[in-house]
Amino acid sequence: MPAFGQRPIQITADLTDAPRKVYHADAEIPVAAGPITLITPQWIPGNHRPTGPVSDITGVVFTANGQTLPWRRDDVNLYEFHLTVPEGVETLHAHLDCIVTARVSQKLAVLEWEKLLLYPADTPVREIAIQPSLKVPAGWGIGTALTPVSSGTYPVPAAGTTTEFAATNVEQLEDSPVITGEYFHEFALAPTITPKHYIDVASDNPEDSNLRPAVLAEISNLVREADALYESHHYHVYHFLLTLSDVAGGEGLEHGQSSNNGVGEKGYADDDHTLSNADLLPHEFTHSWNGKYRRPAGLYQPDFATAQQGALLWVYEGMTEYLGDVLAARAGFETQGQYRDELAMMAAQLDYRTGRDWRSTEDTAVAASDLRGGNPAWSNWRRGQDYYQEGELLWLDADTLIRKMTNGKKSLNDFLRIFLAKGGNTGPMIVPYKFDELVEDLNAVVPYDWAKFLHDRIDNINPHADVAGIEQGGYKLVFQDKPTATERTMNRANGPRMSGPDCWFSIGIRVSNDGMIGDVRWNGPADKARLAPGEKILAVDGKIFSGDALREAIRTAKGSSEPIHLIVQADSFVNLADIDYHDGERFPALVRADGTPDTLDEITKPLTTPEKAPAEAKKDDE
Ligand SMILES: [Zn+2]
Repeated sequence: MPAFGQRPIQITADLTDAPRKVYHADAEIPVAAGPITLITPQWIPGNHRPTGPVSDITGVVFTANGQTLPWRRDDVNLYEFHLTVPEGVETLHAHLDCIVTARVSQKLAVLEWEKLLLYPADTPVREIAIQPSLKVPAGWGIGTALTPVSSGTYPVPAAGTTTEFAATNVEQLEDSPVITGEYFHEFALAPTITPKHYIDVASDNPEDSNLRPAVLAEISNLVREADALYESHHYHVYHFLLTLSDVAGGEGLEHGQSSNNGVGEKGYADDDHTLSNADLLPHEFTHSWNGKYRRPAGLYQPDFATAQQGALLWVYEGMTEYLGDVLAARAGFETQGQYRDELAMMAAQLDYRTGRDWRSTEDTAVAASDLRGGNPAWSNWRRGQDYYQEGELLWLDADTLIRKMTNGKKSLNDFLRIFLAKGGNTGPMIVPYKFDELVEDLNAVVPYDWAKFLHDRIDNINPHADVAGIEQGGYKLVFQDKPTATERTMNRANGPRMSGPDCWFSIGIRVSNDGMIGDVRWNGPADKARLAPGEKILAVDGKIFSGDALREAIRTAKGSSEPIHLIVQADSFVNLADIDYHDGERFPALVRADGTPDTLDEITKPLTTPEKAPAEAKKDDE
């Protein structure tokens, strides 16, 4: 391909129409005369699937020397645009719009650059130079890890019309989102740590983006804890980008030098909500090391057109899930007790995931691009993206095993300082790995048959979840007749619409507070009573359905021989169903195993001296 050389594409993203759900872009693309193919991204890093925006791209017009040039879409690869550049033309102008309905509201917007990118196909994206500029609505603040040309530092200066950023390449620009908003705050974090860290917050309400001192202290703790845990970094600067909005949607998307995070308006407004979002920032931050810097070879392709392969997602996501939860506790987003309660819920969910009888954890990773989202019906039998939580249990197992084999002298921390720190401190870059490197680095910590350890847990059909880490950690997974304090707090924070009565481990259904059945546990008591996802429970034991009425019926049936009587609406018919279940309510919890060391609490102890806002120190609920 000629002439893309050193002259960068110049792209200007125009977000001034963001409240109307459309972004615009104009790009000057260096070209040579002759046929050219431009392409827009398809396989988006971090999404692990082909979520490129091609179906939302509209208003595409190419011009050169004032003339509009005809184009034709490729008949097979719909992401490609073919056109012919006339003689004498060295710069092609491209305009496009993208319809954007998520991560945007009347008061804020997030730009992931793949929505606006067009660049030469068949060239590795890291070899295509590009210089970005940005227009936002007047008075809106800007947060990004891109370097502003005018100041070279942060906050990004309030520009009159257009803010210019330093040239980079297409791979890095795709990895450098922008947040902008009317109610915007940028806070510097953990001032003793280099390089610099910031959190940029945009909210729909003026007061929300001014985060509480306690939350800022926890985020600064997170920066210090990650610094102590990973003993390396792979960025020149790090920006947590955060939206607080009930409109812009939830998000957690990792990038090398930033992360794109979205929670509800009140997501960090009090301790209950903070607990529900405890692992979000630690998880996405950890990805800068695990996922962005170190990436499974199959998930790193030279362009955004080649399919990504997910087989090692139980490392990319699974280990990040483990470290994110551990860091959430170490940084103070949650207490050690809340960490254990959440671990109990997670392990119990996996142990009762009936699909584990037919498909391995590895298969959920290989099929990842097909498993995200989708219909909840029978999802326990299908399995979902279980490599996240299965990976968490696996890495907890490995961590506690290393501690046990070395009498507490070594831990997974030592593995991380090998695996995630190769090359020392670097700027943003991607160093791919394969399975054998994991085994080699684990062996460098403590010799063991790590290949068998990993294969047994990941590749095999395992009818039960891996609770060895919990047991090596000094605890047992049990079921009690009351939910843990943490489960009650999370239900309170999630609100009555999201949290129906928890009867998954008893009669085996997920049901909302208005009686809609989301899922039925395969082979569970409700399955045997022929209930199905999508049905609606109208009445229970002669009373109109409510979450409380169902829970009372489950308690009443305990020790009795009388089944639980339901009246159920199925499509346009009404059925009777009897659930023959008599073991009462069941909620997961961890209890101490007598005479064993409390390794779980040892794992979640901070490595650094925590910074706490006065009078905000948390304690475990009763
Ligand atoms: Zn992740």
